Amino acid sequence: EQVENRTKGKLQKQICQVVLDHFEKQYTAELGDAWTSVRAVLTNPLCWQYAVLLNKFSQPAELENALHLKGYHPAFQGPLPCLPASLKCYIRRNPGRFPAQKHQAGKLKEYYLLNAASLLPVLALEVKDGEDVLDLCAAPGGKSVAMLQCAYPGQFHCNEYDDLRLRWLKETIESFIPDPLINLITVSKLDGRQIGDLKPELYDKVLIDAPCSNDRSWLFSSDVQQAVLRLIQRKELPCLQVQLLRSGIKALRPGGSLVYSTCTLSKAENSDVINLILNSCSNVMPVDISEMAKAVSQEFTFLSGTQHHELLVLPEKGRAWGPMYVAKLKKM
Ligand code: SAM
Repeated sequence: EQVENRTKGKLQKQICQVVLDHFEKQYTAELGDAWTSVRAVLTNPLCWQYAVLLNKFSQPAELENALHLKGYHPAFQGPLPCLPASLKCYIRRNPGRFPAQKHQAGKLKEYYLLNAASLLPVLALEVKDGEDVLDLCAAPGGKSVAMLQCAYPGQFHCNEYDDLRLRWLKETIESFIPDPLINLITVSKLDGRQIGDLKPELYDKVLIDAPCSNDRSWLFSSDVQQAVLRLIQRKELPCLQVQLLRSGIKALRPGGSLVYSTCTLSKAENSDVINLILNSCSNVMPVDISEMAKAVSQEFTFLSGTQHHELLVLPEKGRAWGPMYVAKLKKM
């Protein structure tokens, strides 16, 4: 998807100007001055950082040493009530990425590379042992793997609508989760908008990591026509996101909770979607996640002025995590 041209032997991605112009206009209006520093990170892959999420089901003793030697340290240190001890994630201030591991049938991978902000929806959901969990938009499976590091759920249902991505999801699960636990996992290929009617009031926790305008990757679209089309179709995303949320709410048991997340800065796909749900669903209330945000504020920069039930991670040099919007709701 990305144009890469070789300059002095290094791979360089190229910015898609139509997307940048579009973001420039929208995000200057929505974020003000903050957009300038966010833009500096998003448009420069050389300052991108990658976190290393350890797989508790396959951990060689040398891995943590190797990470320390490369300048990594455990993220989220200190007493964090929301952080399960079994979730181990390493980060470092320097850009660059730890080598990825190839898929090998029958062999569990030792770690998953991800944007550290991707763990925030997982931490906000607070999955506990025995709970029935639905990951409504699950591929490629990073957050499913992270949730399974945190707890041993009762039922764990991962869903993905796209054929190719479903295969990717299955491969991720096979690569990270050992046999006895894999039997608790159901993988389906449904339109997430229908799951609420198909599985009403079945889950304690639902994650909706919604399809959204992926700001980071859209900026490097190689096909200008496709980028223009995406920008046009962008207007339809909030409607899909609201439908996915309504379905997720139906799938929740009363008393259960739901986390909604996106990797865009766009207000139309974030707060506006959540406000519409809060204003139109009488059985849903916001859940305060400000304590969790405070607990991880050493590692992340958040947009100020958001409400207690939501947060928006703004990428910044040296903590280039995000964009990531997270909101938490509870069904009465
Ligand atoms: N949660 C994933 C992870 O952490 O690896 C990333 C999910 S990605 C942001 C959103 C996913 O939603 C995409 O894989 C997309 O194919 C899927 N999707 C799009 N429309 C959907 C629908 N109607 N129902 C279910 N999934 C859908």
